[in-house]
Amino acid sequence: AKDLGRNTYSFFSKKMNTMMLRRFEIEEQMHGALERNEFVLYYQPQFDVKKQKITGVEALLRWYNSALGNVTPDEFIPIAEHTGLIIPIGRFVIKQALSFLNEWQNAHQQKFTMAVNLSPRQFRDKELLGFIKDSLSESNVNAEYLELEITEGVLMSGQSHIHDALVEISELGIKLSMDDFGTGYSSLSYLRQYAFDVLKIDQSFISGIPLNKADCELVNTIIAMAHSLGLTVVAEGVETKEQLTLLEELGCDLVQGYYFSKPIPAKQLLDFAVSYK
Ligand code: C2E
Ligand code: CA
Ligand code: CA
Ligand code: CA
Repeated sequence: AKDLGRNTYSFFSKKMNTMMLRRFEIEEQMHGALERNEFVLYYQPQFDVKKQKITGVEALLRWYNSALGNVTPDEFIPIAEHTGLIIPIGRFVIKQALSFLNEWQNAHQQKFTMAVNLSPRQFRDKELLGFIKDSLSESNVNAEYLELEITEGVLMSGQSHIHDALVEISELGIKLSMDDFGTGYSSLSYLRQYAFDVLKIDQSFISGIPLNKADCELVNTIIAMAHSLGLTVVAEGVETKEQLTLLEELGCDLVQGYYFSKPIPAKQLLDFAVSYK
């Protein structure tokens, strides 16, 4: 029993060590990553069910580092948040996404929308709104084509500057999108409290349809509720034809997921949209 205990201990401590080392290395490498141009934005198309065409994309960050290889956002975003590096990295995302949006709109003579993720820490940047405004005018993009995706995590921190920032975002004409809807506890009250334009149904619900009846009911209810509040509904993580068919029946506005496209590089998106027109 003694041996077993020691083995268990060394097993956990080894695993813990590896995890901490990895975290440390990510943090270490992240410091110079912007300067070394290691971050790239990929774009995942959002498909309008009624219009039967792509009307926008979500920008998703990718990081390749020579020492670490590819690091996924689920791994590096929390560390960027923790260290505060999400502020310069987030600014890079906004600049890059808007500059590409301008190029994309010009190339296709179509007013696509660009959805950008914002995490809680980015709201501590007092110049965030100023930076967004400047980036919009520099890239010659109208505010209504920018959509900011936030999760409940942003709203729950309950700080007054976040309240002010959300009000200002709406006043500027920028769209506000509630990401990962359904995964939290009180997203409903936030939907009423702030001027949200878009609701994204979390992919954990979408993965259950059409086979899981409870998930179908939930998705149905969420869409109806969102529409009664005047919101545009996006289904995330749509992977199959069957999911698309049901979402179409339920009146979902936009769908996003591997069924249409994975997140793709800018150049590929420029070509992709052509083939869908
Ligand atoms: P999210 O905002 O919920 O983004 C959706 C995630 O689902 C993306 O993962 C996307 O690649 C993935 N996805 C899309 N369609 C499908 C599908 O059909 N099936 C499955 N299984 N997955 C699908 P990704 O790119 O790895 O990003 C993970 C998370 O990292 C994002 O979740 C977001 O919270 C965060 N993130 C990514 N880029 C940024 C960024 O620029 N800024 C901030 N603050 N967060 C970001
Ligand atoms: Ca998102
Ligand atoms: Ca999401
Ligand atoms: Ca998510």
